[in-house]
This record gives sequence, C-alpha cells and structure tokens, in this order.
Amino acid sequence: MKPKSHSIFCMKPGMDYGARIYQSIHMTGGAIMGSGPSNSVVNRHSQSRDLHNLFVYGASLFPQNIGYNPAGLPAALTHFSAEKMRDYLKIPPCTR
Ligand SMILES: Cc1cc2nc3c(=O)[nH]c(=O)nc-3n(C[C@H](O)[C@H](O)[C@H](O)COP(=O)(O)OP(=O)(O)OC[C@H]3O[C@@H](n4cnc5c(N)ncnc54)[C@H](O)[C@@H]3O)c2cc1C
Repeated sequence: MKPKSHSIFCMKPGMDYGARIYQSIHMTGGAIMGSGPSNSVVNRHSQSRDLHNLFVYGASLFPQNIGYNPAGLPAALTHFSAEKMRDYLKIPPCTR
C-alpha cells in the first residue's frame, strides 16, 4: 500500500508526556492491587483498603504493565469482584 503520507512520532528525552495524542498505549497502575497495605491500595477483590465501601475497577489495578493486551483482565477482575461486592452489600449497613 502506498499511503499519501505517514508520520513517525518519537518522544525525546525531557519531553512532557501526554495521553491526549492518539497512540496505542496501555496505561496501567494508579490504584494497584496487592497482597497487603504495604504494597497496594486495593485487595484481591478490588476493594479499597482504606474505604471498604469503595471498589476500584480497570487497568489502574495493575502493579505494572502485563506486556499483553490488557483489556480482558480488568473485565475478569470485575467479574471476580462482583461476588465479593454482592456479599458486602448483604451485610447490614450499620455493621459493615
Ligand atoms: C489506541 C488504543 C488501542 C488499544 N488496543 C487494545 C487492544 O487491542 N487490546 C487490549 O486488550 N487493550 C487495548 N488497549 C488498552 C485498553 O483500551 C485499556 O487497557 C482498557 O480500556 C483499560 O480499561 P479501563 O477500564 O481501565 O480504562 P478505560 O477503558 O480508559 O475507561 C475509563 C473510563 O473512565 C472515563 N472517565 C475518565 N475520567 C472520568 C471522570 N473524571 N469521570 C467520569 N468518567 C471518567 C473515561 O471516559 C473512560 O470511559 C488500547 C488502548 C488504546 C488507547
């Protein structure tokens, strides 16, 4: 195929990073999942360690990039967490 035009964009050292420009990136992290409060924000059920009525979903749960297309895993983690959230909602509010 002979495209009319094409361009290559490379970040140079010191350039400000921006996610607004189109690029096939897998942004992850920010509310990571882990084994305990010392290494994570949420537990294995995506439940916040500080606010037990807050459940966090998405690629923000990843401690690092997984090196594969990431979209399936947040969906699976959300499905896994749904059961925990359902159990949580069964607990009478005043005793949560
Ligand atoms: C160009 C591109 C191509 C990709 N191709 C693939 C691929 O082929 N396969 C794959 O597995 N992954 C792919 N990815 C990565 C995949 O899209 C992401 O990993 C996935 O969407 C992350 O899901 P998420 O729920 O964490 O975030 P998102 O899907 O980004 O969802 C976050 C949502 O929150 C909304 N939002 C943001 N701020 C606020 C706010 N303040 N209030 C309310 N709503 C807000 C946003 O509008 C958005 O709808 C691609 C990503 C890009 C950018």
